[in-house]
Amino acid sequence: MSAHSCRYCDAGGVEIVLDLGDQPACDDFPPADDPRADPLFPLRMGMCTACGLAQLLEDDTAAEEPRGIESHALIRQAEQAVARAAAAGLLPACGRFVEFGSPHGGSWAGLLTDRGLTRAEPGRPADLVLDCFGLMHEPDQAAALARRVDRLAEGGTLLVQFHSLAAILRDGEWNALRHGHYAYYSTPALVNMLETVGLVARRAWTFDLYGGTVLLACTREGRQSDGVAALVREERAFGVLDVGQVSRLQLAMERGALELWSWLEQASGSGLRVLGYGAASRSVSLLCAAGAGPGLLPAVVDAAESKRGRRLPGVGVPVVGPELLRTDRPDLVLLFVPDLLAEVRAAYPEVEAGGGRWVRADHIGLGIRVPLARGAEPSVLEMRET
Ligand SMILES: [Zn+2]
Repeated sequence: MSAHSCRYCDAGGVEIVLDLGDQPACDDFPPADDPRADPLFPLRMGMCTACGLAQLLEDDTAAEEPRGIESHALIRQAEQAVARAAAAGLLPACGRFVEFGSPHGGSWAGLLTDRGLTRAEPGRPADLVLDCFGLMHEPDQAAALARRVDRLAEGGTLLVQFHSLAAILRDGEWNALRHGHYAYYSTPALVNMLETVGLVARRAWTFDLYGGTVLLACTREGRQSDGVAALVREERAFGVLDVGQVSRLQLAMERGALELWSWLEQASGSGLRVLGYGAASRSVSLLCAAGAGPGLLPAVVDAAESKRGRRLPGVGVPVVGPELLRTDRPDLVLLFVPDLLAEVRAAYPEVEAGGGRWVRADHIGLGIRVPLARGAEPSVLEMRET
């Protein structure tokens, strides 16, 4: 029996499925010239063998997060999600809403007020309770879900959106694991959690955001749609509730770290200038796992002013502004946040105009052959359409 009890059902059988060892607090970007060593903390994912919730085992960090920039992909997905829920009759046409948001931004409040909903008074019932990537930030999952359900008015709808564990597993996206993100939901695990608080998942929609995002619409009455049942079956068959299957993330980490390190080594050995793009938590864990410091990757570009003059913790790679993409004329720009691909290509045409290429870091980790030569075809590996 494991020493950890579940953040949702409190059962004692939480098994370790992914262990990244000691990692810096990934959103704590210290000033570039801060001589102190970055403190390290265990970073491990466990899975409850009782309720199937994948979760952060422990978090001893107290990072202050410099706020990132909302991607176009995130904003567009919110519009699509609201439109789909409305078209299915699962978005109240009027009434009150309450939003349990994410500390990283991405509020839907503007979209909801545009449709005629108004914000509920604090503590008052709401016809729509919205949780868009909020729940994962809660250490006590049972208390957090109860707080959301408590706000639901008679006949109200809970919309809950999450980054799918099935997608994380399918894409070997082990670096989705980070401090501050306490839960990693599969559809079957979350549908079960919702059932225990008296909610029925009526509809499910999937989106390509973050490689795979699911939105569930839940009510107290009504029946589960065939679409929800099918998604639950499909994810179960894929192994999202199976400790052995989810543990494959550990192998993905080992392989991905090695692939990235050798790609950077080859690039540097070939005299190519490589820059990173996106000072995100997943860049930190990826570079830490690969053991790639400024010798292999001289700088990471980020558009957020709040991160300038800082460095990625653990590996010490400085964070710089986008002007370096013009002045440094990189041959290759390693993109750590794939959802940004269309946006950065449009925002920084000088990269490709100068013969450089955008390269998705996750493609390297997946072992997809990424040509090293400057200006080689294809100039980018396209992401799926959203
Ligand atoms: Zn559990």
